[in-house]
Amino acid sequence: MQKQQHIIEESLKAVMEDESFLPNLQAQTREQAYKSLCALLSTPNHIHKSFLRVTLENGTIVRIPAFRVQHSDTLGPYKGGIRFHETVNEEEVSNLAKLMTLKNALHELPFGGGKGGVIINPKEYSIKELNLICKKYVQYFNDILGPDKDIPAPDVGTGEREMDWMMGEYKNTHPGKIYRNSFTGKSIVNGGSLGRREATGKGVYFTFRYMMHNYLNENEKALKETDNIFAKTALEHADRKLTMAVQGFGNLGSVAALEAYQCSHLQNKIVAVSDHNVMLYHEDGLDIPGLVKFTKEHDGDLPTNQEELDEYDIKAEVKERDDLLALDVDVLLLAALEDQIHKENMEDIQAKLIIEGANGPITEEADRYLADKGVLIVPDILANAGGVIVSYYEWVQGRDTQFMTEEEVYKRLFDKMRGTMDTILPQFFGDPFPLRQNCYIHSVMKLSTIMYRQGKLY
Ligand code: NAD
Repeated sequence: MQKQQHIIEESLKAVMEDESFLPNLQAQTREQAYKSLCALLSTPNHIHKSFLRVTLENGTIVRIPAFRVQHSDTLGPYKGGIRFHETVNEEEVSNLAKLMTLKNALHELPFGGGKGGVIINPKEYSIKELNLICKKYVQYFNDILGPDKDIPAPDVGTGEREMDWMMGEYKNTHPGKIYRNSFTGKSIVNGGSLGRREATGKGVYFTFRYMMHNYLNENEKALKETDNIFAKTALEHADRKLTMAVQGFGNLGSVAALEAYQCSHLQNKIVAVSDHNVMLYHEDGLDIPGLVKFTKEHDGDLPTNQEELDEYDIKAEVKERDDLLALDVDVLLLAALEDQIHKENMEDIQAKLIIEGANGPITEEADRYLADKGVLIVPDILANAGGVIVSYYEWVQGRDTQFMTEEEVYKRLFDKMRGTMDTILPQFFGDPFPLRQNCYIHSVMKLSTIMYRQGKLY
């Protein structure tokens, strides 16, 4: 199934039915414009596929399927991560590329949307073999990548090490050309930006905090006067200690959980966290700094038994991993994988506030079901853009060879995210659409206007 297509079409319809939008369009042209926008947004500009021919350390030659999908360059060069995973496929990469187009449009970044994928389990390859796979990826997609064409970043299964290798290969294959901003998410020493690693987790929590603290405080009177169901949900959770459960304790989940733990604006109590092995629970709140320390010293994994918990003096019960989603908490922060809340478990969800750190953690059906019940979902497109926003700063810094301090990076990140929310939230609390739909409407409006101005809707 083509993810997002339904909601994109609904958002486009809402935009096109609003006669104040592109008022110069006559009724017939408006209908045509709607059709061409649906076609433009539902299909990527290019799907590049190849088999990377790699000689393994034992002498075997393998051919590894690899993709780069370039969805739209309406707003600038294609931008999006490269995923190394054994289940990655063309459809998934295309959907993620489309989401990048919409996310970059929502946050007013000068980038289009792209995504890459390599079908491997990186844990099954040696460092030397992974290095070779990264180099081959750049060689095979050499002509389509570059600072003004398509700028990859890390995604699941890749990180700064892979981006450093890829940028190195890009530099080798483009002698004399600008190369520092050909890839983002690199190590600091190799031209990466301070704050890039923490940016997504910090941005996820900032989005939630801004909405539930700053925006609510400043607009409380107006929100009390509306009959918007999501405003009601938000107000019911204002000014009280919020219990929170965090699914996924990797890069994103652990940073966001620490931000929530340390937040002085909202009083949070993180009662549960989970990873691919376990759920840890404590009704009085978990020691998040202690768990972060443990994971740093144990290859990213949470403690799985009482002995390990005792060793770090952490008070918690070890429970079934997937029971976390059904806990009676105020807030669920989803920071693991896609499609975690779906038809089979959507009725078990008790939280009234959900933050999507991961991309697409709620299926379309579950999303509608929860929204109808007044659950306020802060969608991925709004909440988890911190990574691509700081990637943009890395790209600018690489181009200018002038580097920002960590403080400057965070200030600019939060200013940017605040700007997006100040545009979206008044609209959201003023009409009946869920927040995801509002974000999509804003993105397609931006893309439609630019395509119209560039003469692409005829
Ligand atoms: P990560 O690999 O560092 O962490 C993933 C975490 O999820 C790990 O703790 C893992 O154990 C856990 N996990 C896996 N399966 C689970 C399950 N069934 N139940 C509970 N936990 C499970 O990845 P990350 O960088 O933190 O990214 C998490 C998600 O956020 C991904 O979907 C990614 O695409 C998305 N995302 C990340 C960034 C970023 O900058 N890191 C940016 C945008 C979106």
